[in-house]
Amino acid sequence: MPTVRLCAEILPTGSQCRQFALKGHPWCHAHYQPYRRELNADTREIVAMIPAMDLFTVTLMLANTVHTLRTKETPPLHAQAIFDASAARLERLLEEQALAALQNANPVRSGNSQQQNGLQVVPMK
Ligand SMILES: [Zn+2]
Repeated sequence: MPTVRLCAEILPTGSQCRQFALKGHPWCHAHYQPYRRELNADTREIVAMIPAMDLFTVTLMLANTVHTLRTKETPPLHAQAIFDASAARLERLLEEQALAALQNANPVRSGNSQQQNGLQVVPMK
């Protein structure tokens, strides 16, 4: 009985590619090309950095992603993975801001609230 192998590539969303691997190769037809795997690795790297980004960096990165989506440098599914991770990050930043505002409103518990409330700008690489 022949065994069927799935493509070894990990998609930008973090899940494994569900296409069948080509005979004698670890990848499917789409991921057989090195260029496509490099693109995947680039998007995975961006998605992995998003949880540590501040508001300014997320905004710049989103503007850049919209641009590269329009010029077709970024495939729609890659952009979707970036948008999903950004939405989660923005939600978290909003929670942190609400928490900081709450601590400012309650001076008894806010030792260093001035520092926590400030936006931190991290330069893009
Ligand atoms: Zn694949």
